[in-house]
Amino acid sequence: MVPGPARHRDRAGGARVHAVRARRRVRTQPESWGGQVTTAAGRLLRVEDLTVTYGEGPDAVPAVRGVDLTLDAGATLGLAGESGCGKSTLALALLRLLPRAATLTGRVLLDGEDVLTMRWGRLRAVRWAGASVVFQGAMHALNAVHRIGDQVAEPLLVHGGATAAAARHRAADLLEQVGLPAARTSAYPHELSGGQRQRVMIAMALACEPHLIVADEPTTALDVMIQAQILRLIEGLVAERGISLLMISHDLAVLADTCDRLAVMYAGRIVEEGPARAVYDAAAHPYGRALSEAFPRVGDPASRLAPRGLPGDPPDPAALPAGCAFHPRCPVALDRCAHDDQPLRAAGEGRTAACVRVEG
Ligand code: ADP
Ligand code: MG
Repeated sequence: MVPGPARHRDRAGGARVHAVRARRRVRTQPESWGGQVTTAAGRLLRVEDLTVTYGEGPDAVPAVRGVDLTLDAGATLGLAGESGCGKSTLALALLRLLPRAATLTGRVLLDGEDVLTMRWGRLRAVRWAGASVVFQGAMHALNAVHRIGDQVAEPLLVHGGATAAAARHRAADLLEQVGLPAARTSAYPHELSGGQRQRVMIAMALACEPHLIVADEPTTALDVMIQAQILRLIEGLVAERGISLLMISHDLAVLADTCDRLAVMYAGRIVEEGPARAVYDAAAHPYGRALSEAFPRVGDPASRLAPRGLPGDPPDPAALPAGCAFHPRCPVALDRCAHDDQPLRAAGEGRTAACVRVEG
């Protein structure tokens, strides 16, 4: 489920708006998605050669460049990479939630149907019951002037065809499932802690019982203790319900702890993909290695004293270096990396990596 754009109204006008929505309900209810996960090998999501470019001409920003990804039904995939590498753009592209200035090519197959070419009515059904997004930044994603109970109830009313009483009841139930007591349903977002706001976002994502949840940096703004609680909550909810999860973070350790598989993104491309533990413990791509060494590790005091990090900044997507985009920062680059870009190739242990040093 994808919440609609933030709309502001005064509290007195609320009842009138609800009445108008109730009249529209019959017309606005989307067709059922009906996804059954019928594709080969239980694949729920298959992204093929996805490219997203913001703008045109010399100012064009190629934010996502030829990405291939698969996610099986009930599986969890982590997507890691530094800020600006294209993670949110990729997440939003999966449900065509990008601004008009973005040009998309490639295919995004959700249960075998291409989201990028499907008609509007079908897209609404997919956004309602196929996949939900937990947007980056709960404070901005929630509407500041609506009570959280109403915000969780709204999509159930508008898209789900529920009566006002049933939607309110279900919203309170969902909020309770994510650990918010019934008394908090009448709170406004600013009255909640960061962790509680993130719980509201998760309740909204669960509202339509989706097959896939895309969670964009769900714990980034939270302190470490709350971060762990939210991660366990997401993990428990998706496992219980058999929901597939695409979780995005700049923190490889968080993803390795939560996901079955990990994909590492650099400058709009996936540079490594494989079983989460294998990628985290011994990445095949030098960028994956740098990312995993950037954070202190539990049980490794040396890493706490001197997390190594990576020198230099990620490239500006509008002015990418020739060859492998990582070569100017790569500690093991060869001369040819300045002009040859590498495709993803088999790198052992069920993983792929895009590096000249990797031999299949
Ligand atoms: P991440 O989520 O990994 O931090 P984003 O997907 O937000 O990365 O951004 C990838 C690149 O696309 C960045 O260079 C960013 O500046 C650019 N970008 C993101 N959104 C827009 C937009 N709406 N218009 C133009 N450029 C954008
Ligand atoms: Mg982002």
